[in-house]
Amino acid sequence: MSIDLRSVFSGKTQSIPIDEKFDFSDLEVSGINPISSPISVVGSVFMRAEVVRLEATASFVYKAPCDRCCAITEKTFEIPIDHIIVNSSADEDESDFIVSENMELDLEDLIRSDIILGLPFLFLCKEDCKGLCPKCGKNLNTEECICKPEVDERWAKLSEFYD
Ligand SMILES: [Zn+2]
Ligand SMILES: [Zn+2]
Repeated sequence: MSIDLRSVFSGKTQSIPIDEKFDFSDLEVSGINPISSPISVVGSVFMRAEVVRLEATASFVYKAPCDRCCAITEKTFEIPIDHIIVNSSADEDESDFIVSENMELDLEDLIRSDIILGLPFLFLCKEDCKGLCPKCGKNLNTEECICKPEVDERWAKLSEFYD
């Protein structure tokens, strides 16, 4: 889906409202498709002080296993989308800018890469998830285990040396 930006670039319209839904159910993250319901993107493309800008919010439900305890976790994300858009004929030195070819903007591609960049590096069921015991595999959020913390053999030798 592409947006025709000519009217904003020429100053004919002040802003183009955006209220779109995108299907990103094909997006794959470590073997699963975490975004099964459509993403909603609400915002606008507008000209202010001679600069054309896209400002929007992408909201969606993300469902995936917790990176520590593997519990299936559902979270709603709201990722801010903020880009300055330049005409392809303009100065292209700035890599921060989105260059619109033929004054068109491919919103879906842009949103897709923003969402991938905006996702947290660690997806956790809760901030302080204790994860699984590496020895017995118990979920330490709900159970306690009697395993001692694993000590790496090499480090054990080294700590003997320092004793
Ligand atoms: Zn967890
Ligand atoms: Zn254990």
